[in-house]
Amino acid sequence: MTYTFVTLFPNLIEGYFKDSILKRAIDKDILEINYLNPRDYSKNKHFKVDDTAIGGGAGMVMNPQPLFDALDDLKSRNENIHIVFLTPVAKPFVQNDAKRLANKTHIAFVSGRYEGIDERVIEKYADEVFSIGDYILTGGELASLVICDAVSRNIDGVLGNAQSLEVESFETPLLEAPSFSKPKIYEGLCVPSEYLKGNHSKIRSLKLALSEAKTKFFRPEQLIKHNAEQYLL
Ligand code: SAM
Repeated sequence: MTYTFVTLFPNLIEGYFKDSILKRAIDKDILEINYLNPRDYSKNKHFKVDDTAIGGGAGMVMNPQPLFDALDDLKSRNENIHIVFLTPVAKPFVQNDAKRLANKTHIAFVSGRYEGIDERVIEKYADEVFSIGDYILTGGELASLVICDAVSRNIDGVLGNAQSLEVESFETPLLEAPSFSKPKIYEGLCVPSEYLKGNHSKIRSLKLALSEAKTKFFRPEQLIKHNAEQYLL
């Protein structure tokens, strides 16, 4: 998978790929990361990329010209590129999107800054738009990293243990049951006794009950939305 980050601030993104799982995936040639800075395409003599909003309103909006030229260039060099814009004005990104996008070969993430991107750019170039939640960030870079990370985990070879994908929250409507590590007792706090007895069917039942309780408490809409009867005890 190749990712191209279209951003005015590539430095904000680069550090994330310098360690841990995604770095290893880059070292194994499973992932390739590129950057494209719209400022490099600006025809303004001062390389400006933004201007005041037509029709009024606070703040600056990213101009169409640098982004049109950057994205035309990107598309001319990459036939199968899938262009994703990050914006709060979109449907929220979810786990199924992560799994679906993992089948692409090249994804470009376009980050807005300031008050956002001139809508004509999004209309012309977006294959998809995503929000990562109902709050406003200063720019799309973090949002693009969030999506890139979630997609990458679903690409063959990125995770050491692919089985861990199957048992995670959002694979079913139930959130994952609590996990515990060693030691069995830490500062007087015990792991639930059933976890310690080695009876796998009992552990499974307890985990299911805890999953159900957590989901009812934190995300009750998940159970309603997914007709979750089949997953419950
Ligand atoms: N004026 C915009 C609005 O009210 O919808 C917000 C612009 S925000 C300050 C600047 C950029 O951050 C956006 O163009 C987008 O790329 C990114 N951004 C902010 N919040 C986001 C979110 N929840 N999901 C995805 N991208 C976001």
